[in-house]
Amino acid sequence: MTTECPVCGAQLELIEGTVVGELIECPECGTELEVISLDPPTVKEAPQEEEDWGE
Ligand SMILES: [Zn+2]
Repeated sequence: MTTECPVCGAQLELIEGTVVGELIECPECGTELEVISLDPPTVKEAPQEEEDWGE
C-alpha cells in the first residue's frame, strides 16, 4: 500500500505490518511522518518535539 508525503508529495510505500501511530521517515524530504490511518493509507507530519533536558 502506498500513500503520499504531505510535505513533498513523494510516493511512500507502507510496509506490511505498519500500524496506526507508527512513525516513518520520508525518503525524499526526510520529514518524520505519523501514520494516522491505514484505510486509506494516510500520513501526516509528525509533531516536532524538541528534546529539552533542562540542562
Ligand atoms: Zn516527503
